[in-house]
Amino acid sequence: MSFNRQDQFKKLADSYDICVIGGGATGAGVALDATLRGYKVIVIEKGDFASQTSSKSTKLVHGGVRYLEQAVRNLDWQQFKMVYKALHERKIMLQNAPHLAHPLALLTPCYSWFDRAYYRIGMWLYDKIAGSTNLKDSRGLNKKEIQKEVPALNLKKIVGGILYYDGQMNDARYALSILQEAEKLGATVLNYTELSSFTYSHKSLKIKEVHGKDLIRNKEFQFNVRAVVNATGPFTDKIRKLANPNLQERMKVSRGAHIVLEKKFWPGDTALLIPKTDDGRVVFLLPWRGYVLVGTTDDADKLSENPIILEEEKTYLLEYFNRFSTEKAAPSDIKAGFVGLRPLLQVQLQTAMQTDTKSLVRDHEVEVDRRSKLVSIMGGKWTTYRIMAEDTLDILETEVLHVRKSPCLTKNHPIMGGDTFDADLFLNSVILTSEIRRHLYETYGSLAPRVIEFCQTIPQGTEVLLNGLPYLQGEIDYLKKHEMATSWDDVVNRRWGIGLRDDALGRKLEDIKKEAFASIS
Ligand SMILES: Cc1cc2nc3c(=O)[nH]c(=O)nc-3n(C[C@H](O)[C@H](O)[C@H](O)COP(=O)(O)OP(=O)(O)OC[C@H]3O[C@@H](n4cnc5c(N)ncnc54)[C@H](O)[C@@H]3O)c2cc1C
Repeated sequence: MSFNRQDQFKKLADSYDICVIGGGATGAGVALDATLRGYKVIVIEKGDFASQTSSKSTKLVHGGVRYLEQAVRNLDWQQFKMVYKALHERKIMLQNAPHLAHPLALLTPCYSWFDRAYYRIGMWLYDKIAGSTNLKDSRGLNKKEIQKEVPALNLKKIVGGILYYDGQMNDARYALSILQEAEKLGATVLNYTELSSFTYSHKSLKIKEVHGKDLIRNKEFQFNVRAVVNATGPFTDKIRKLANPNLQERMKVSRGAHIVLEKKFWPGDTALLIPKTDDGRVVFLLPWRGYVLVGTTDDADKLSENPIILEEEKTYLLEYFNRFSTEKAAPSDIKAGFVGLRPLLQVQLQTAMQTDTKSLVRDHEVEVDRRSKLVSIMGGKWTTYRIMAEDTLDILETEVLHVRKSPCLTKNHPIMGGDTFDADLFLNSVILTSEIRRHLYETYGSLAPRVIEFCQTIPQGTEVLLNGLPYLQGEIDYLKKHEMATSWDDVVNRRWGIGLRDDALGRKLEDIKKEAFASIS
């Protein structure tokens, strides 16, 4: 069976142990963990995989320097534990998909000697908490060293800086690759299928059947289940209330915007952490796959699908970029912009009037609804997706399936494309061009040679779609057949991601091969 809709619908069974609703980071993590524990699993995702929050993140695999600061300032043990867990997960995420996640150097500029000492101690603590999983020790830099490390940084009033390390990832592909891995191990995985309703057992009101709708063919289907996991991020309350209308809302949605600029505005490989904006937040300037990513904002918002970046968000982020960079960018230099909705969890009893989302903890919680037995995994962040899944499965086994906890096997399990592969040998080979080899490795990892073989079977398959870009003509068929792409949006905004970096280029690629997705079902 291949990872495409036809094969997955052929695989569709009458009953499953676990149905996961939502194919973002959280649902993907739960699906892989459950499959590795030996359960028969199905994932239904109403859009494309990772099409909501999970492809709109800042792409950091991190413990969160800001969360550590909050933990220390407020003597918050919960927050401290969260940073500890995330820092340990950081290493695991890098190890399980080295083609999709890598270490990233970040500089925090300091404008007073007090700040320099404060951040030096803070970053030292950050390293110590990571312990043996630390990526590289942080260190203080003087002005001269800063100029070498981040050539475009405006040095006015700077007294020094702290260089530290976190991870950076390809978020959309990371989620896709986790789901592909789950599918390879037996799970049924479907995009563009929506949860429509549940049926319940007469006696206990527990969910016994899931009704879904294939949104592409407009067809209903159903299957029996032993347990349902609600991993719908910002949409969590909708599913919770569908299962039990008496449940109180728990999610608070906050929007985070990013803009993308050309690389020339921020040369080099080191990112910048602006630790305090005028409104008390952090903003990052990050080198990102040949471009510069600037973000993010944090404002309470209403639930919506695919929110669009506002002009004032673009202006705000551009203003910060220009304040810190000597290479000034104009509004017309913005290549793309995107917004994600943070699925923030309100602590129970917290007043529903709370609007300051910056203070809400990015931790997660697993809830089992007593009546329907719906298991909702709420909150969290990308970096902690794996432990969120582990906690979900542990609770689901004891409280819903009433079986003994089975071991979680995801820690040392590479995801699709992340298994042993001599990347250097591939990158230094002479097949195609070095840009194409890099694109193929950073997209497919160990499967890169298989993608080339596939493209070779198609006329003009190994020729590029557009001169100057590394995307091969044959990849389109590969993405349809082996990665469940159903539209150009799936390809440019997630499988390749070029559309999120450069809107005009994404559209140009689509114009070249408009007909490619005419017959997907
Ligand atoms: C601006 C921003 C920046 C961030 N940066 C970082 C970062 O740098 N590092 C980090 O670790 N974390 C970061 N995060 C947090 C991280 O991105 C999220 O915690 C994570 O992506 C949430 O994943 P999810 O799967 O829970 O939600 P989502 O990705 O939103 O997935 C939920 C899925 O459920 C589907 N769904 C909803 N209803 C239904 C239904 N009825 N039937 C079927 N499917 C349904 C949706 O279509 C969606 O795909 C950031 C978040 C934001 C918003």
